[in-house]
Amino acid sequence: MQHYFGTVVSGKAILEGSQAHHLINVKRAEIGEKIEVTDNGETYLCFVKDIDPLEILVLEKVETLRELDIHITVAFALLKGDHNDLIVLKGTELGVDDFVPFVSSRCVVSPKEKEDNRILRLRKIAAEGAAQCRRSVIPSVSSYQTLDDVLKSEAEVKFFAYEGLAGSGDSLLSVAKTLKKGQTVLLVVGPEGGFTHEEARLALDYDFTLVSLGRRILRAETSAIYGASILGAFGEE
Ligand code: SAH
Repeated sequence: MQHYFGTVVSGKAILEGSQAHHLINVKRAEIGEKIEVTDNGETYLCFVKDIDPLEILVLEKVETLRELDIHITVAFALLKGDHNDLIVLKGTELGVDDFVPFVSSRCVVSPKEKEDNRILRLRKIAAEGAAQCRRSVIPSVSSYQTLDDVLKSEAEVKFFAYEGLAGSGDSLLSVAKTLKKGQTVLLVVGPEGGFTHEEARLALDYDFTLVSLGRRILRAETSAIYGASILGAFGEE
């Protein structure tokens, strides 16, 4: 069944812009078809009463458990090309709640504005991905931050993936075992060129746990997706 994000009021579901477009023009919904609509974390079974103008009636609220027991933020250094898209698309499927693209000293991409078309595209990818995998919430994508902003941000558990620890030190897999239900977790992953020693040291000053993602050096986008997979797996335990 197709899943959409909309607004539910007085027994009706209202879909805006891209969501309505997807239902009518992409999926070519027919009258009588059943769909799911999520509003503010609550999901409803609905049916399409009319197409033109679009009218969707709510049948019943459905109990869903699609979110993790922990809240995951993935802060990733801005990458070249469409690798950022991949992090947001796959991270959304894996249960990441917030994405924070940031700029650190070895980033090759340096955005001129705090928000640009790339950020808008990432938000669209998060919304479409969330609908596709039937999440109850659309993950947020923040405007560009600096590494300093990221290191200063609040979370109960803070991991910094540092390639300098590859094959030694604490692995994310081993430390993530201690996560508890309801905790907020922040994972920071570096750019193609990696983090500098100074950046890793600064993360320690801000009480991050420096973690290894295994014995091999992973590409930045693989690191973010692998890290989200590990956290997501424990978030469903
Ligand atoms: N160019 C660097 C590697 C950068 S990998 C080098 O050759 O050393 C990009 C980012 O992925 C890193 O900054 C880190 O956050 C993460 N990463 C990749 N492999 C990792 C590993 N084995 N352990 C911890 N972090 C890793």
